[in-house]
Amino acid sequence: MLSGPGGVGKGTIAAALVAADPKLWLSRSWTTRARRPGEPETAYVFADEAEFRAKAAEGGFVEWAEIAGNLYGTPQPDAPAGCDVLLEIDVQGAAQVRENRPEALCIFVEAPSAAEQESRLRGRGDPESHIAKRLALADSERILAYELNAVHVVNDSLAEAVAAIGALIEEARQERCDNDD
Ligand code: 5GP
Repeated sequence: MLSGPGGVGKGTIAAALVAADPKLWLSRSWTTRARRPGEPETAYVFADEAEFRAKAAEGGFVEWAEIAGNLYGTPQPDAPAGCDVLLEIDVQGAAQVRENRPEALCIFVEAPSAAEQESRLRGRGDPESHIAKRLALADSERILAYELNAVHVVNDSLAEAVAAIGALIEEARQERCDNDD
């Protein structure tokens, strides 16, 4: 699971990880957030609140959470056999997943500085009120990440962050193999 405050580059890292690793499958979340200008249609399943709540009521989500006024949820995964599932979700969602999957690797990505995070958030064209909410959430997200014993990775150089996370995933796979023996 990849978590971290808004604007730290989780989406870019997740895309690079799955591009480099055919055994890693990226889950596509549902959201009630409006699509951003230029955001691909496939970034999420964009749903209205009634559709989202109906899916939640029928047990269609592994986890879901409200973030800065919008709902986000992970549908039941449909990964090809032999693939590991990569979730790009917030820390509240990661905590829910951990309840059922205590072995799940939780990585918390940080921007190199608060100023860098803010400038990345602004670069996405979100409304000012949304940017303020995401910045205000960062501290509580850090506390929850600490409670989850998440591994922290700073996204200063994208290539280095992707390599570090790729190595953590390999380590977790190796551990799983050792435990299966
Ligand atoms: P954004 O609106 O910037 O795409 O995402 C806002 C936050 O929602 C990010 O922290 C992202 O990781 C999180 N998020 C995306 N999908 C999910 C999901 O399915 N579940 C949860 N809990 N968080 C999600």
